[in-house]
Order: sequence, then structure tokens, then C-alpha cells
Amino acid sequence: MERTCVLLKPDALQRGLFGEIVHRFERKGLQIVGCKMIQISDPTIEEHYAQYREKPFFGRLKEFMQSAPVVALVLEGVDAIETARTLVGPTKGRTAPAGTIRGDFAMSLQSNLIHASDASATAEQEIARFFRPEEIFAYEKVDCCWVYAEEERK
Ligand code: ADP
Repeated sequence: MERTCVLLKPDALQRGLFGEIVHRFERKGLQIVGCKMIQISDPTIEEHYAQYREKPFFGRLKEFMQSAPVVALVLEGVDAIETARTLVGPTKGRTAPAGTIRGDFAMSLQSNLIHASDASATAEQEIARFFRPEEIFAYEKVDCCWVYAEEERK
């Protein structure tokens, strides 16, 4: 099983989409193994979006990400990183395909509701950035045998 880090950005809470978004991951079969609400600090957001620090939009992005709490999730499943990114959709909300979270609920490039790790190294770093080890819960979900065929669970 693989783990990925998802952040529901401030617009998700402001627009009352927390339940809708989490519901989509749950229905898909991804298991929630971590969940917390946080106000992102300056150092954390600067680290999280370090690759964009020199971009002209960085100041606005930082302000947006700190404008309200975010909800951080750790989701677990087979190929969880790719699966979550598929559900989330491409960055620009207004052209993201219908059926994706951004495609169904977002119009903006910046305020696109959600972040999901893009690779296994970044997932590991992001989980460690937002969660202490004891905030992640390993438990056997009762529907596991219905979500996956036996050989997929190994
Ligand atoms: P994604 O979140 O789809 O992985 P990126 O890693 O390219 O996308 O960008 C990270 C986040 O930065 C985006 O989700 C979006 O909120 C913001 N962003 C990216 N490009 C721009 C831009 N040109 N203007 C404003 N915000 C942007």
C-alpha cells in the first residue's frame, strides 16, 4: 500500500466543500489514515511551495494558503498517489475535466481547492511535514476485501 498527502486548501473550507471532497476519496476506496486541521505557518508554506518562491504569484499563493485553516489528510491505497491526483484533476480549475474535483468545483488556477502529492518522494516529505508519526493510524478497514482483489492487497 502507498500513502499520499492531501491538503484541502482554505477555499475548500470557505466554500463548504470539505465533506464533498473527502467523500469522493472515501467512495473511491482510499483509506483515511491521517486527518487534521492546521493553520499553515510561514516556514511550512515556504517549504511546501519552495519551488515557486521566485515566481511572481508566490506572495499571493502564500497569503491564500494562510487565509484560513487547511485540512491535511493522509490517504492510503494501492497506487494512492496517482489515484488521488486523477481524482483531483489538472491545476487550472476552469479547464480541468468534469468528474474531477477541480473540474467539478473550481474555476481558478490559484484557488483550486486541493493539493495532492505528485510523487513518492514528495509524498513522504509532505506527510512528515504535516504529521507526527503518532498522528497516522494503521488499521485494517473492513471493506478492504471488497475494494481490492486478493493479489492486489499483497
Ligand atoms: P498542482 O497543485 O496541480 O500540483 P502546481 O504544483 O503546478 O500544481 O502548483 C501548486 C499550486 O500553486 C497550484 O495548485 C496553485 O494553487 C498555485 N499556482 C500554480 N501556478 C499558479 C499561477 N500561475 N498563479 C497562481 N497560482 C498558481
